[in-house]
Formats: sequence, structure tokens, C-alpha cells
Amino acid sequence: MTDKMLKFVNLEKETPDKIETNKRKKDFHEIYKEYISEKAQEQSSRCSQCGVPFCQIHCPLQNNIPDWLKLTAEGRLEEAYELSQSTNNMPEVCGRICPQDRLCEGNCVIEKSGHGTVTIGSIEKYITDTAWEKNWVKPIKVKKEINLSIGIIGAGPAGLACSEELRKFGYQVTIYDRYDRPGGLLIYGIPNFKLEKFVIERRTNLLKDSGIKFVQHFEVGKDKSLYELKKNHDVILIATGVYKPKEIDIPGKNLENIFPAMDFLIASNRKGLGDKVELFDNGTLNTQNKNIVVIGGGDTAMDCVRTAVRQKAKSVKCMYRRDRENMPGSAREVANAIEEGVEFIWLTTPKKFMGDKYVTDIQVNKMILGSADSSGRRKPEIQENSEYNIKADIVIKSLGFDPENIPELFSAKELSVSRQGTIKIDLNTMQTNIEGVFAAGDIVRGASLVVWAIKDGRDAAKEIAKHLKEKNAVKAA
Ligand SMILES: Cc1cc2nc3c(=O)[nH]c(=O)nc-3n(C[C@H](O)[C@H](O)[C@H](O)COP(=O)(O)OP(=O)(O)OC[C@H]3O[C@@H](n4cnc5c(N)ncnc54)[C@H](O)[C@@H]3O)c2cc1C
Ligand code: SF4
Repeated sequence: MTDKMLKFVNLEKETPDKIETNKRKKDFHEIYKEYISEKAQEQSSRCSQCGVPFCQIHCPLQNNIPDWLKLTAEGRLEEAYELSQSTNNMPEVCGRICPQDRLCEGNCVIEKSGHGTVTIGSIEKYITDTAWEKNWVKPIKVKKEINLSIGIIGAGPAGLACSEELRKFGYQVTIYDRYDRPGGLLIYGIPNFKLEKFVIERRTNLLKDSGIKFVQHFEVGKDKSLYELKKNHDVILIATGVYKPKEIDIPGKNLENIFPAMDFLIASNRKGLGDKVELFDNGTLNTQNKNIVVIGGGDTAMDCVRTAVRQKAKSVKCMYRRDRENMPGSAREVANAIEEGVEFIWLTTPKKFMGDKYVTDIQVNKMILGSADSSGRRKPEIQENSEYNIKADIVIKSLGFDPENIPELFSAKELSVSRQGTIKIDLNTMQTNIEGVFAAGDIVRGASLVVWAIKDGRDAAKEIAKHLKEKNAVKAA
């Protein structure tokens, strides 16, 4: 463990709700440079209010960034908050974890002219964190209740955004989730050092206070089939995300201490939330003092290596079959991991897991990049006679996620899905091929981003409201 690694190790500990804001601010200082009011104003005033708002165009929610920057620059924070929350159900979440370098900030005109982007994400986070502190964020007060009910399967960002928008219209909304806490990947996937859990808990509590019902520990497919659930509601939204890990099919794959990324991240997040986690407490999923190899090059892999650093692993390596330029993960995340002491083994692929009962080493091959494939990316090819061994006490597989088999799980064989298993919807109405059943988020797009899940959830709410109006107009006629 290097000094650099040690510098980061204490950031993961927290008990839910209990740690005062100041302590959190101190702990996260290295991740989010604190945004004091003057700095937010100074940064906001750097916006040139250019005629074509490229930042807004490249934000999936089309947030009115230039206007809320102007309001912030003028010190009119409450108005900035009102404007910001009018297009985004979780601005403080997006401000923290959107890959801004690929979205709003990457397209800032000032950035393009070589003067460094306006730090849009940090300002968005600052505006909404201030709104929470000043008590400007209030539960929904429904003007007129509508006696129609929507059942949402999945309490991730897509389901939560949809529930909030529907509740604003006055509908009765119930969210079902198989986990014990709402939030989906926001609570159990994305690590605490990127997105503090109290941020999610205060959002979901706000939705509860707005009259949205949460039914946790409820797994559709096990506790009720899709059709059984549908009987209780006028409309169903499926927002279940994608959770089936892609596998590595090589000799030794069944040895112990080889884990899918989500097992590792869920255990770590639960620990951070103060839960008793047997597999962590008995050392199985705890990387402290161990040699860790994470296989994969996406953002989930970066979350795994950076979590292992914080757990005081002896060494942390990330193995990826292409080179740094061709990694799918955000360049910022890779840079963070390197700075924290993670060793990257690029152009390398596992050939065999070695050991008797437990994995002890990985035999690997070196790769070279060949000609471009149909996607335009250069295809990695195995370099002959390039085998060597890497020591590993724990291997974490992070090769991405596929959808589960929803038609089979939900006992709804006729539900139409793509070849990859994502749910097919009519892109105009967001309705599946089953009348009254809609779908949104990763289960439609495949593994994507929080900001897209929020956008889908909002769009689904509009379409569901339209559908219910039309249906009830027909009934009344
Ligand atoms: C480790 C990791 C890190 C990530 N980091 C980022 C990041 O930094 N920035 C970013 O923008 N995106 C990130 N993402 C992607 C982002 O989290 C997802 O795109 C987003 O959460 C998708 O939202 P969703 O609502 O569609 O699904 P999810 O968030 O996956 O929520 C789905 C919910 O459905 C529930 N569910 C599933 N099946 C059932 C069932 N049968 N019955 C009842 N409930 C069910 C699940 O328990 C879950 O709560 C990350 C993803 C991972 C895995
Ligand atoms: S939601 Fe994401 S892309 Fe849009 S302004 Fe905020 S940080 Fe940028």
C-alpha cells in the first residue's frame, strides 16, 4: 500500500443518517472540491452565455444550464434551484456522478476555446445541496388526487423519477423493489466515495413524504407474476435495470474467491450503510491486505479498484485487454484510479485461473491490437507465447451486465424483448407490446447512465398520464 493509497482509505466508513454534514464534507473534500458560494458565483460568471448552448444540447435532460448559471452568478440561488429542479428529479446526484466530460462540460464553448470548462456539474450539485440545507426542497403537495394507480417495478433512478412526475399529476403510485432499500444502483452499486448514501436516502424519504408507497423486499416473478401485479394497478412500469454479469469462460472459473463486481460492491455499500454483512465480516469479500485483480475496463471496474484501495488492499491491479485509449470507462475515473495507486495491466487477457480450492494466480496472455472491427475499434488479438502469471488472492470480474430473462422471470412469455434481452417498447409511447405495461431505464437501453434513466422515467410518466387520460376518456364516453 503506497502513501497515496493510504490517503484515501478512510472515506468509505459511515453509518446511515448519523454522521453530521460537516464530517461528510471533510471526508469527501478530496473528491468534490468544496463549492463555497463565492466560488460557485465566480465559476458561474465564467459562462459566456453563448448564443448556442452546446452544454444544454448535450445534457440528456436539456437542463437550462446557461440560465441557472446566470442566476447563480447573480446570487439568486433559490431561483437557480427552482429552474434546475424543473427538468431534473435529482440534480445533486447528476452533479456528482454524470460523466460531465462526455456531456455538458465536454461541450462547453469556453472549454472548446481552450480556457477550461465552466464546472457545470459542481455548480449543479452546489445549488441543490444548498436548497436542501435551506429547506427549499419540499414534498409534493397534490392539488387534486386522481383515483388511478400505477405500479412501478424497480426503485432505481428511472422508477423514482417516473414516480415523482406521476405523483405531481395526482396519481396513486406504488414502487416495488426486491432490495430492502430504494435507490437501485444509486444505493447498492455506485460506491459511497462517489455518491454519499445520505443523498439518496433524503431523496427517497422526500418521495415517501409526497405520498408515494414503497414496497421493499418484493420481487416480481417470485412474490407475484407480472399479470398478478397488473390486476392491482391501472398501469405498470418495468424499470428493473440490468443485473446479469457477463461471465469469463476459462479453466479454473469455479475456483473460490472469484466474484462478480456487484457482489463485491453490494457488500461494501452495505457495510458503509452500517449493515451486518457476513461475507465481508468473515473476510471473504473484504480485500484488506490482499492482492486484488479486477478484470475489465469500464466504470464499474474503476469503482471496484477504487473501493479495494479504500479497503486497504495490499495491491490492486486492473487488467484490460485493450490499451488505455480504448478503455470504455471515463478517462477521469481511470486518472483517479492511477492517482490512487492502482496498477493498470493493459493489453492483457486472462487465460486460466490457477489454484487448488482458492484462486492464487491468473495465467494471462499479452494482446496486440489488430485491425478495426465493425464498431471501428481495433480488435485485440492474443500474442503467441506471451503467457505469464499474476498473483491474486481475490479476482473481481467486471465485464459488464446483460438483462435478466424478464419474460421468463415475470411469467409473461409474450413480453417482447430484443436479441440482447432488453425490453422492446414503442419509442413514441414507451409502452411494451402488453397493453398498459410500460418500460424505462437500463432494462430498455442496456447498461447506461443515471441521467438517461431519469430522462426515461420522466418521459414514461408523461406517456403513462396520456395513456390513462385517453383510456378514461374512452370509458367515460
Ligand atoms: C457499479 C456501477 C457504477 C455506476 N456508476 C455510474 C456513474 O458514476 N454515473 C452514471 O451516470 N451511471 C453510473 N452507473 C449506471 C447507472 O447506475 C445506471 O444506468 C442506472 O442506475 C439505471 O437506472 P435504472 O433505474 O434503469 O435501474 P437500476 O438503478 O438498476 O434500478 C433497478 C431496480 O429494480 C429492482 N429490481 C430488479 N428486478 C426486480 C424484480 N424482479 N422485482 C422487483 N424489483 C426489481 C432492483 O433491485 C433495482 O433497485 C453505474 C452502474 C454500476 C453498476
Ligand atoms: S444532468 Fe448531467 S449532463 Fe446534464 S447538466 Fe447536470 S451534470 Fe451536466
